[in-house]
Parts: sequence; structure tokens; C-alpha cells
Amino acid sequence: YTPLNEADPEVQNIIEKETWRQWSGLELIASENLTSKAVMEANGSILTNKYSEGLPNARYYGGNEWIDELEQLCRKRALEAFHLDPAKWGVNVQPYSGSTANFATLTALIQPQDRLMGLGLPDGGHLTHGYYTAKKKITASSIYFQSFPYGLDPSTQLIDYTKLTEQARIFKPRLIICGASAYPRDWDYAKLRATADEHGAFLMADIAHTSGLVAAQALANPFEYCDVVTTTTHKTLRGPRAGLIFFRKDLKDAQDLEKRVNEAVFPACQGGPHNNTIAAVSVALKQASSPTWQAYAKQVISNAKTLAQELVNHGYRLQTDGTDNHLILWDLRPTGLTGSKVEKICDLIGITINKNAVSGDKSAQTPGGIRLGTSALTSRNMNEREHAKVAEFLHRVVQLSLKLQKEAGSKLLKDFLRVAEKSDEVKQLRKEV
Ligand code: PLP
Repeated sequence: YTPLNEADPEVQNIIEKETWRQWSGLELIASENLTSKAVMEANGSILTNKYSEGLPNARYYGGNEWIDELEQLCRKRALEAFHLDPAKWGVNVQPYSGSTANFATLTALIQPQDRLMGLGLPDGGHLTHGYYTAKKKITASSIYFQSFPYGLDPSTQLIDYTKLTEQARIFKPRLIICGASAYPRDWDYAKLRATADEHGAFLMADIAHTSGLVAAQALANPFEYCDVVTTTTHKTLRGPRAGLIFFRKDLKDAQDLEKRVNEAVFPACQGGPHNNTIAAVSVALKQASSPTWQAYAKQVISNAKTLAQELVNHGYRLQTDGTDNHLILWDLRPTGLTGSKVEKICDLIGITINKNAVSGDKSAQTPGGIRLGTSALTSRNMNEREHAKVAEFLHRVVQLSLKLQKEAGSKLLKDFLRVAEKSDEVKQLRKEV
């Protein structure tokens, strides 16, 4: 056994630099979190050596006695973490990520060229929910299926359920997908179920972003209304990078659904499961079932509400004026700055955020907003007080960016950066962060 720092100092050095970046800065990317040491230990374990195509007790390789035990444990913990009755719900824990979980789900539920409806990407939906542009079918979910996006009501920036129902009457989808990557409010699953039922369509929720909050019962319960629920495991759920697919076992042809989901994951979309990751997911799910998890989820939401309110107090506009969950969409357009500029300045001072389209944006290339999330800082035990301070830093970032934009004498990002990189005020902010 040669430790990494001896076997490969170059990679070790990169890991150390990234460790410093993560711990010295403020992580506000809504899709990220800081997972525990126990999760990382399982993720880096010897289980990575093993092939185990198939399902527990039905593998294509020998030597899977302990891997079978692990996968069964992970399934049991997944159902427990989401308060599901094993007689009514099953779960496949093998997806490598959220995107593969979603594509496997589409493969299981509908046929090539069948119709699906998901929230449009510019309105906060995810690529895998059928995204395409006027020029190109960008994702497999729009290449292999016919997709029609639903959207937000421009006056409230909330999902327009009435319009969605009207559009579904014309489009007649086989599948409706709910869930989002950038939507700060909760979902009305009952309304979506009623629309899906009008067309005998499946209803799938992708709770990748909010699953940690759903497990804590801090948001509406999608399992009450949906046929299939997918999630990533590394966002609010605070696990390693992977995906899960939950499927109903109490439908009329439920056995068929279970078989379809399992066969869609393997062999249709994937090969051998990543057993080290399944072990790490199991550890994360145990944490998400622990008595302290609800307090964590509550704190994530309270921190997001505090950050949102403080930004409003500083005079800024937020999409939907606030949040119900862990994320905030900050509309920067009234300030005259783009999301890209604010993202770059934040990088320079050690605050990590991402530019994001806001409702009504003309161009996806230069989005007018940024997305903020509170899961990672809450994992570092930061509460309302620290989030008010973060809002103050962000306010100073905007003020400074406006000043630098003026100094640059141009609206181009490269001119702006040239000035920003030399600015003493940027360096001072970096020190304070
Ligand atoms: N679904 C949603 C709603 C997401 O936000 C994301 C990623 O951000 C995914 C799926 C894809 O997950 P992954 O990056 O693990 O493939």
C-alpha cells in the first residue's frame, strides 16, 4: 500500500488545493453540499473493485455475497429515509447520477417518440426533462421522445398549472415530469396528478434538489401522488454523487413497473453498479433518517429565507420574492449587471455561486440572474446570523461590480475581469470572506 501523496503527488496536490478552496470560501451553489467524512470513506473504499451486474441474488458475476447485503441495506434505508411502506414502494439504488436515473425512468415508462411534458429549462427545469432549443434537440430526453415544456406564469413566476392543464389537453402527454433545478417554491402535486389522470399519463417527480428536505418532511410529499420519484443523492440529501429511482408497487400492473424500472437501469442504460457509491449512499441515507436530520433541513430553509429577506432589505429583486426551500433566484437585471459578471467577481473573493436564467431572460448565454443555495453552509453549522452576513457580502459584491463596470468603460466580461483582477477592493473582500 503506497499512500496517494507518495504514489501520485500531482493528484494529491490538486485535491489539497480543492480542499482549501472548499473550506476557505463560502459555498452557495444550490446543487452542492459538503458530505460527511463517513460518506467519503465509504465512497473511497475497496468496494470499487467489485463487478455486480444484475440485482441482489441475481448477479452475472460470482463473489457478490456482501454486495447483495449492501444493496439490500441501501434499498431498505432509502425507503425508511423517505417514510415509505415497502409493500407500496420499491427503489432501484444503482443509477450513477440524476441524469442516468431520469433517462432510465423515461426508458421504463414510455416508448420512443412518446410525448412528455416537463418544466422548461429557462423556467427552472432540468435538461433531462425534455429540453430542446429552436435550433437543436439538445438532450436525449428530447431526441428520443417528443417533448413540450410547460412554464411559469410571468406575473407571479409560479408554475402556471392552469395553462399546463390546457396545454396537456392539446399535447396529450404519456408522462408529466415535475421537479426542477431552479424553482424556489414548493409543488402542487395534487393538481399535477389530476392533469396526468385526464390523459392516463404517468406522473414522475424529480426531487434531485429538494430530496433532503422531502426526507425531513419539510416540503410537500411527492410520494402521495406520483408513480415514480427520482433523485440525486448529493444535493440537499448530502450524500455522494449518484441517483435513486423510487417506483410504486401498488399500481394495477405494479410488477410490470418494477421490472421495467430495474431493466431500464440495467441492462438498458447502465452496466455494473458502483458499489462504493452505493455504500456511501447507504451512509448518507442513515444520516438522513437520524433524529438530527429534521433540524438540519429546517435550518437550511430558515437560512434561505433569511438570506432572501436580507437581499430584499438591501433593495434587490428575487424571483417570486422569496423561497420555500433551499434556493434563491436573484434577478440582477434591475442592477444592470449580468449573472456572469457577479459569478466571476464572487469567484475572485471566494464565494461560489452560479449564473442562472431568470424568468423572462432573452438569452441563456448571458443570464440575468444568479442562483444561491444554503445546504452547504448549513452543513458547516452556519445559521441565520451568518447568512445575513453573506447577504451583506453579496450586496458589497454588487456595489463593487457596478463600480468596476464603470471603470472598465465597457460592458464586455473580459474588460470587466481585467479591471477586477487588479482591484484592491476585490482583494480586501477576499480577505474578509
Ligand atoms: N435533476 C435535477 C432536477 C437536477 O437539478 C440535476 C442536476 O443538477 C439532475 C437531475 C442531474 O443530476 P446529475 O448531475 O447527477 O446527473
